[in-house]
Amino acid sequence: MHSFDFGVFIGRFQPLHIGHEQVIARALDQVERLIVLVGSAAQARDPRNPFTYAEREAMLRSAFRHEVALGRLIIAPIADHLYSDTAWVTQVQRKVRELVLEHGNRQGFQNHGLKDFRVALAGYGKDASSYYLKLFPEWENLQVESQYGTFSSSDVRQRYFQRLPEVPQTILSAGVAEFLRAFMLGEPFKALLEEAEYLAAYPAQWGRGPFVTADAVVVQSGHILLVERGRAPGKGLLALPGGFVNPAERIRDAAIRELREETAISDGKGQIPPAMLASFIEDARTRVFDAPGRSLRGRIITHAFLFRLPERRKLFSVKGGDDAAHAQWYRLGDLSPDMLFEDHWAIIEQMADL
Ligand code: NAD
Repeated sequence: MHSFDFGVFIGRFQPLHIGHEQVIARALDQVERLIVLVGSAAQARDPRNPFTYAEREAMLRSAFRHEVALGRLIIAPIADHLYSDTAWVTQVQRKVRELVLEHGNRQGFQNHGLKDFRVALAGYGKDASSYYLKLFPEWENLQVESQYGTFSSSDVRQRYFQRLPEVPQTILSAGVAEFLRAFMLGEPFKALLEEAEYLAAYPAQWGRGPFVTADAVVVQSGHILLVERGRAPGKGLLALPGGFVNPAERIRDAAIRELREETAISDGKGQIPPAMLASFIEDARTRVFDAPGRSLRGRIITHAFLFRLPERRKLFSVKGGDDAAHAQWYRLGDLSPDMLFEDHWAIIEQMADL
């Protein structure tokens, strides 16, 4: 007989290690079914989040094949909402509700509501758990001990991207270690390695900030103007036109300057002059995006400006650049978070009201 019908365990598992596995195993001793929510599930790969949701789900499956087959371990993705814990909590509540009702009612408890199930939040480490318990006061607390408390995914990643051959296999289960070995042979690893090397060298060259940047969120007739990044960081990802503010310039002027430089936006008669671009800015829609972890380069605080261009059948023309910044219009409905650099998806979501 288990103490709880459902447990919920939240983590990034970048990658899964035996500390996580022990918490999961011990939580499974006390709950009928454990829901493992895999966080940061929708974004592009970067050296802090190198593995996709599908890859992390496969790691969990390889370590708990039997429990997954029995339906005792349920794995689901959760996307970040960097600028709204409320939106993130709502997503977790919805997902847990859906899974509890689906898997609980399957056991023959037909037509039970959420209140009929005892749910507990499983956690290790008092600080992390108490943070989550504050976010989910409706759930009970299932504090689990682990003798592997000193292991961390960030140590594994650090060694992995330094290509240390003995990437601590002892703290990874066989399936995860095998996955990491195979992943090292592919293109994504090469790109991540390049990115990790770039980021490691960054503070020596530029310092740690805080830096101030400006970004232009330019929308016209259901489209947004983005540039494809030609080099690290975020090579190949889409980004808002923008960049660092010069010492003698206002932040809004930096947004306009970068927009012109990176996209050469023109209305058919020639490049749009700065004053006209300024007239498209919606002042009420200017916002600061300052999540401390928004960039892996350091502390970068950005100011985003919404440029709402007139609705037209023919969009303003932009340069289809060749190298560093390739500018193009994208239909808003065609974008997904994993296509965008750093927190630019979150910025677009808020500024363009998606
Ligand atoms: P993690 O993989 O680092 O850790 C997951 C869990 O495992 C934690 O409870 C942690 O205490 C435990 N753990 C870590 N090392 C351990 C060890 N050696 N032994 C035993 N247990 C160990 O994941 P995390 O960073 O805590 O993941 C939280 C997720 O939730 C992230 O994806 C985060 O982005 C997301 N989140 C998002 C928001 C938002 O978007 N607003 C808010 C809160 C959390």
